[in-house]
Amino acid sequence: MKSKTRRPRLFLFLFALNIAAAGNAGAEGPPIAISLDASQVGQRLLHVRSEIPVAPGPLTLLYPKWIPGEHGPTGPLANLVDLHLSAGGAELAWRRDPVEMYALHVVIPAGATRLVAEADFLFPGEGGNFTSGPGATTELAVISWNTVALYPQGTSADGLRIAPSLRLPAGWSYATALVKQGEDGGVIRFAPVSLTTLVDSPVLTGEHLVDLDLGSHAGAEHHLAIAADRAADLAAAADLAAPMRRLVEEALALFGARHYGSYHWLLSLSDHVQHFGLEHHESSDNRREEETLVSEASRRSLPILLAHEYVHSWNGRYRRPEGLLSPDYLSPMRGDLLWVYEGLTQHLGVLLPARAGFWTPEYYREQVAASAASLDTRSGRSWRPLADTAVAAQILFGTPRDGRPLRRGTDFYEESIFLWLDVDTILRERSQGRVTLDDFCRRFHGGANSAPAVVPYSRDDLVKTLNALVPYDWQAVLTDHVDRLQPRLPMSGVERAGWRLAYSDRPNAAIADAEARNEDRDWRFSLGFAVDKESVVEEVLPDSPAGRAGMVAGEKLLGVGGHVYTPRAVEAALAEAKGGSAPIEVLAANGDAVRIHRLEHRGGPRYPHLERIEGRPDVLADILRARAAAAAP
Ligand SMILES: [Zn+2]
Repeated sequence: MKSKTRRPRLFLFLFALNIAAAGNAGAEGPPIAISLDASQVGQRLLHVRSEIPVAPGPLTLLYPKWIPGEHGPTGPLANLVDLHLSAGGAELAWRRDPVEMYALHVVIPAGATRLVAEADFLFPGEGGNFTSGPGATTELAVISWNTVALYPQGTSADGLRIAPSLRLPAGWSYATALVKQGEDGGVIRFAPVSLTTLVDSPVLTGEHLVDLDLGSHAGAEHHLAIAADRAADLAAAADLAAPMRRLVEEALALFGARHYGSYHWLLSLSDHVQHFGLEHHESSDNRREEETLVSEASRRSLPILLAHEYVHSWNGRYRRPEGLLSPDYLSPMRGDLLWVYEGLTQHLGVLLPARAGFWTPEYYREQVAASAASLDTRSGRSWRPLADTAVAAQILFGTPRDGRPLRRGTDFYEESIFLWLDVDTILRERSQGRVTLDDFCRRFHGGANSAPAVVPYSRDDLVKTLNALVPYDWQAVLTDHVDRLQPRLPMSGVERAGWRLAYSDRPNAAIADAEARNEDRDWRFSLGFAVDKESVVEEVLPDSPAGRAGMVAGEKLLGVGGHVYTPRAVEAALAEAKGGSAPIEVLAANGDAVRIHRLEHRGGPRYPHLERIEGRPDVLADILRARAAAAAP
C-alpha cells in the first residue's frame, strides 16, 4: 500500500478481512477513475463519471456520509442526482438501502469487470452546513471530492485507490494539494491517491485567483491561494505573505515537526458561499465574506481562521481521537474528545496570531475576554456539562442563536481556551517555569517531519503525556473542566497567568470588530441582548435586564427611550439612564403584537476586558511571546 496512514489494530484487522470482498477495487487492482467535469460549476452543477473495477455478483456502493472535520453525518446526499449505473454499455437497476440512505445496492452481471457510475451534483444555493452548503458562484468554486465520490463497500478509504481528473471552466485557475500529472484537452489529470487523500484534498478554482508562495519551511512548500468574486477584493492579498510566513515559523517552532509534504491554504472570498473552515492534512478550505481583505475589522479576525485550520494539520489530522476515525465514512464518528480536537486547536488558533505578530497582546486579551464573558453568561451551564456539547456536536452545529444561552452551542471550541490555559499554567507552576504547553505540543504532535499520517489517541494517552511532563492529577483537572457542571466559567488558568475578567464602559475591540463584520450590535453585557442589522433581537440573556423584562429573541425593535430604534438611540438611552432611577423603555414587535419592555439597568455601557491581578507575574506575556528564531523584534 502507498498510504502511510497508521491505523489502530482494530482497523488493520477489518481492512484485512474486507479487502478480499471488494473484488479488484482495492489497492492491488486498477484504480477507480473519477472524471469530474466542472465546466458548468458557474451554474452550480458538476458532472461526474466514475469507472469502478468490479467482480460479478451483488455490490454495495457508498456515498460519503460522515465527512472528516464536519463531526456529523453531513454528506450532501440529496444533491447527488441523475444517477445512472451501467456495465458493458447496459444500464443496471439499483436499489437504495431502506435503512442506510447512503448505500445503494446493485448486481454486477456475469462477465463485467467495470461499473460505470454517472451522476450530477447540484451545489446548493442556500441551506446546508459546511461542504453541504453553498460552495460555488459564477466566479469561483470549492470542489470537495466527497460530494461526487461513489465507492464499493468493503475496503477502507485508505485502501481504495482513485485516479482523479478534472475539467474546469475556460480561463479559471485552481489550487489544491493534489499533484498534477498532466493535462489533455483541458482535462487536468492528478496523480492517483487513496480515497482518504482525495476526500482530504479539495480544489479551489476561480476566475480571479492569486497563489502566494510563502516559501519553503522545514523542507516543505507553503502556499496561500485566494479566490474572490471580484478581482478588486484581492488587491491587498500580497500584504498577507509576510505575516503568514511568520505564522508558519511559529507553528513549526511550537510543534517541532510537520506532517505534510506541502501545505496550501485555500481561501475563498464571497458573500454567496457558506462561511466556515475545514481542515485537511495538506490544505484547508477557508471561506469568508467578500470584503475580508479590504475591511479592517474583517481582516483582523482572518488569522484566527487561517491559524485554526493550519493547527488542525497536527491536532486533528495527524493526532486524532480514536472515536473520530471512520474507516469508510459510513461508520459513525464519536465526538467525545472534541475539546482536544477542536478545543486545543481553538486555543492555539487564537494564540498563534499573537505570536506571529498579526495581533498585539492587547488584542489577544480582548478576544479572550469576549469569549469568557459570553461563555460565562450561558445559563445552560447548570444542566449541560462541556463534555455534552462535544458528544452532541452533530446536533448542535447549525442550531440558531435564539435559545443558545440555555441550550449552549458548540462551546467546546471557545471554552477549551480556558481549559488549555489552565493546563499550561499548571505545567509552568509545578515545574518552576521549565515546562509549558509548548512542550506538550512537541511531545504529542511533533516527532520527525513526515508525510501525512494518523496517530490515534485516547483520553488516557493525553493524561499519560501530561504526566510524563509533570506528574499531577491531570484526570481531575480535565474532569473539572469537561465532565462537571460548572455554572460559572472556570477562570483559574487566566488568573494563574496574572489576569482576570473585568467589565468597564470602554468598548471591547474584538466585540467591536465582530459587530462591524456581522453588522449587528451586542449589548449583552449591559442590557442583555444583541440585535441584527434588520433590528431583530438575536439573543437575550435570561439573567439580564432584557431577560427579566420579558424580551425574547426574534422580536423586532421599534423604539428605545422614547425614540425610533437605532443603535444610537440605545447608546443615548444607556447614557441617560446611568445613575438615574427610570428604566429604559424598549418598544418591540413580537408577531403582530407590540409590547413595551422596561429594562432596569443603570450601569451604562458595559464591556468585558482582561485586567492585571496586581502582585502576580504576567505569565500571559510569556505565553504570547514569539518563539521562532527568525521572529521580528
Ligand atoms: Zn476546527
